Order: sequence, then structure tokens, then C-alpha cells
Amino acid sequence: MQFNFIANAPQTSTSGQTLAVLDPSDGQIYDQIQRSQAADVDEAVAAARQCFNTVWGKFSAAERGRLLMRLSARISDSVDELTAIEQRDCGKPTKQARADALALARYFEFYAGACDKLHGDTIPYLEGYSVLTWREPHGVTGHIIPWNYPMQIFGRSVGGALAAGNACVVKPAEDACLSLLRVAQLAAEVGFPAGAINIVTGYGHEVGDALARHPGIDHISFTGSPSVGTLIQQVAAQRHCPVTLELGGKSPQIVFADADLDAAVPAILNAIVQNAGQTCSAGSRLLVAQAIYEPLLARLGQAFEQLRVGPASMDLDLGPLIRQSQQQRVWDFLSDAQVANIPMVAQGRVVDEAPQAGFYQAPTLLRDVPPQHRLAQEEVFGPVLCAMAFDDEDHAVALANATRFGLVAGVWTRDGARQFRMARRIRSGQVFINNYGAGGGVELPFGGVKSSGYGREKGFEALHGFTTLKTVAIRHG
Ligand code: NAP
Ligand code: MG
Repeated sequence: MQFNFIANAPQTSTSGQTLAVLDPSDGQIYDQIQRSQAADVDEAVAAARQCFNTVWGKFSAAERGRLLMRLSARISDSVDELTAIEQRDCGKPTKQARADALALARYFEFYAGACDKLHGDTIPYLEGYSVLTWREPHGVTGHIIPWNYPMQIFGRSVGGALAAGNACVVKPAEDACLSLLRVAQLAAEVGFPAGAINIVTGYGHEVGDALARHPGIDHISFTGSPSVGTLIQQVAAQRHCPVTLELGGKSPQIVFADADLDAAVPAILNAIVQNAGQTCSAGSRLLVAQAIYEPLLARLGQAFEQLRVGPASMDLDLGPLIRQSQQQRVWDFLSDAQVANIPMVAQGRVVDEAPQAGFYQAPTLLRDVPPQHRLAQEEVFGPVLCAMAFDDEDHAVALANATRFGLVAGVWTRDGARQFRMARRIRSGQVFINNYGAGGGVELPFGGVKSSGYGREKGFEALHGFTTLKTVAIRHG
């Protein structure tokens, strides 16, 4: 049985109800989490406020940094344990669960070092005046975390908020709570004061909604679907609470005829296969210059056929999807493809050892996807890559920008001038040239434009979002 974590103590929900925790690899229930309600959110927000007002808000930036560094070290020591937890809860192959745990340690390391580097300005002004700016924490921040990368998104969101001096209330997705509940315990063990990190589990429409509405929440960081992002924005607007939204994408991989295909092919493959395609920055549209369309599809098709899907513990290329409804969502997209006669180039294979009750989906490469079809427009959030050909650079830009999203774009070309032109012309938060998110990018600001959201997390830039700027003007004559 798992409990909420409020003021450094395990707490049962006031509802007395629990929710089942499933292993996506075999579809079986193996644990329970608390099904919390608004009253539990009240308690967590009160604990965070008390901590902010009396303890956490009085820590110096250097002291905060030392504590974040201690947590980073403790996470590093616990990588095997966290990997095992995540693998079972989310169905991630071992290497992917491990990469998430390592990234979490790295986020806390990065933000530990950033705490005492966040400073304001002095501004030349009228004779007899001195003007300065302070970056102050919002106070109590709310964090609504999705199920696809719980540890990584906790790291970038809660790590940044704590570094800036906020106390945090976290609502993980009900499908992916266990690793974060463990990390909160580790934080208490290394000395985080009671109330600095609080975790309340349950449904989005119950706990998430209560958190977004709570008058004691001073800033909301949300990562998830565009539709829930809209709800959060509407609710927060009632009290003019600032929000950061990261709402996914339909990110293009744009391959010109002069590209280094030996570098591009493995990166294109990884960008749609990683975490079984359940990645906000998945490279889910493949735009290819007409001249190399056939040879590139042939090469990628062979690579797709080699891919193997199976239980997380087998550590294959892909694990299962998170839950049955996500599997159904992917099936619906693929049956739409059949109805529209969209040709399939190749599929990987689900291994025989995969239990029938697990949520498996073979990775699928589709070609000649009409740019207006929903497969080319909407987030599948599964291992489905949609290829289409372009005639020239203008056509490539038009296709790249022709969805409501704008999160990431990958551009593959050896032409230096074209690299810059493409980077300028694509409307997205990130453009990767001849790579696709290599190195994890903890240091790099990340976020979207258009329906991919706004605000930036990751990197030093996140600290600007997790603080508010106060201008102080002093007349001293
Ligand atoms: P979602 O509903 O947007 O879930 C994201 C988070 O919001 C979860 O913690 C969820 O809690 C919570 N939530 C749900 N309804 C809420 C509400 N009314 N008020 C406040 N919080 C609420 O996403 P999903 O249904 O899990 O996935 C659907 C699609 O969203 C995916 O297929 C994908 O396209 C997209 N998605 C994108 C990202 C990303 O990284 N950008 C991540 C996840 C999903 P519960 O899950 O516990 O209900
Ligand atoms: Mg689970």
C-alpha cells in the first residue's frame, strides 16, 4: 500500500479509498495508491505554506543548493531501486527506466548549482535614485506530472521550483506515482524540511482539479494533454495564477538529400521508439526530400522490422504502453490509417514471451500520410512514424509548420546556410540540427509555441518561470 507524502510523513487519504496500481507488462494489479480528494490537497498546501513561511523561505540560496546536491547524491545511490520501481510501474525497459533515474539525479545536481547563481539587476535611473530587481519565489507551487516520464519531469519541474525557493505540492499521474513517492522519502531522509515537497496521489479530475483551483497555489506547472492544459489555464485564470504548460507535439524530422543518413537513421528511429513513442518530443512526422524518399524508407523499414517489443524486464527496444486506453488510442489511429488506405512500410514484432494481458504495440512505419490526415496532425503518443515527401525547402517548411503544435524539430542537412534558414523558419521551441535531443539537455531551456504550450522548463531559464521579479526603486537624494 502506498501513501500520500505530506509534511515528510505518509498519510492516508481522507476519502479512505485507494486506486489499483497496474504493471503494464502483464496488466496485473500489484499495489494500491491513495485516491485523494480536495481535503488532502488542502492539507498538503497548508504544509507547504507553513514550510515556506517558517523554514524553507528562510534558507539561504547556498543552503538550498547543498540540500539539492545531497538529494542528487542520494538519488544516484538509489538508481537501481528507482529503476526497478519505474520499470514495473510504467513498463519501461530497464535501460530507459535507468536513464530516467540518472536524469533525475542530474536535474537535482544542475539545480543545486544554480540556486546561488540566480540574481537580479541594478538599473541606471534618475539622479538620486537606485533601482534594483530581486527574483523572488512565488511561494507554493503546484506540479501536475504526466505518466510518461515521471522522474524526469519531476526533476525539471520540482527541481527548478525548489532551487528558486518555492515549496511544492505534486500530483503525479495516477498511473505513475511510485517512483516519486520514493523520491520524496529520500528528500526527507537527506534533510528537506517537512512541507518542502508534498505528494498527493489520485485522479486528475479530483486531485489535479483541486490543486489547480486551490487559492493557496501561487504557480502551476502542468505537463500533459492540450485539452487538460486548457482546463488548467481556465481554472487558474479565475485567480490570475501563472501557469507553465508543456502540452506535447507532432514534431517533424526533416531530412534533406544531402543529409548524413548514417547519423540520421538511428536518431530518427530512437526518437519514435523511445518509451514506446509516449514522449512529448517524439519525432513522429518524417519529412523527406523526394530524391531520397524511397531509399530512406527502405532503410528505415528494415530497421523497424528488427525492433522487438516485450515485458519491461526483458529490456528490449520497446516495452508496453502505459495502459489499455492508451493501447486503444493507438489502435484507433492505425485503423483510421487502414480506412484511409495509408500504406504501411514495416512493423516491428511483439515477442512471444509478452503476456496477453500486457499493453503491447508493435512499432509501425506509415508512408504517404496526407498532411491533413489526423495521423499527421494529432499526437498518437505511441510508436507510429508517419512519413511524407517534400519537393523543396519551402515545401519542407510549410509541412513542418502545418500542425497546431510547435515543440521540437529535427533538421538533417550538411548545408550550413540551410541549417540556419530552417532554424529561423520553423515555428517551434527547439530546433535540433543533425541531432535530435542528444545528451538529455538538462541544461537547455525547453518548451513549446502554439498548442505545445508556453513557458520554459529545464536549464537556467526555468528559474525565471519559478520566480517573480520585484523592482525596488529607492530615492536617496
Ligand atoms: P492528461 O489527462 O493531460 O494527464 C496529465 C496530468 O494531468 C495527469 O497527472 C492527470 O492525472 C492530470 N489531469 C487529468 N485531468 C485533470 C484535470 N481535470 N485537472 C487537473 N489535472 C488533470 O493526459 P493523459 O490522459 O494521461 O494522456 C492523454 C494524451 O495526452 C496522450 O495520449 C498524449 O497525447 C498527451 N500527453 C502528453 C504529455 C506530454 O509530455 N506533453 C504527457 C502525457 C500525455 P491522472 O492521469 O491521474 O488523471
Ligand atoms: Mg502503473
